[in-house]
Amino acid sequence: MSEVKTLKVIVDYDLCEANALCMEAAPEVFEVDEDENLVLLQERPAESLRQKVETAVRMCPKGALRLE
Ligand code: SF4
Repeated sequence: MSEVKTLKVIVDYDLCEANALCMEAAPEVFEVDEDENLVLLQERPAESLRQKVETAVRMCPKGALRLE
């Protein structure tokens, strides 16, 4: 059975400074590439990743992440 996907991650790329703290918290969802660009690996992560994603949102020092 597939999981219900109720999360949606919104990134404000203008605020992001690619310090990769979100990647530490939720590497399944966030990746900072070699050019220091934040790449959103999953815009709609599974519910099982909610805690990690919420931690990432909290950890972002720029307030560049939010959940919908
Ligand atoms: S923690 Fe915030 S500022 Fe840092 S890479 Fe992630 S979104 Fe960008």
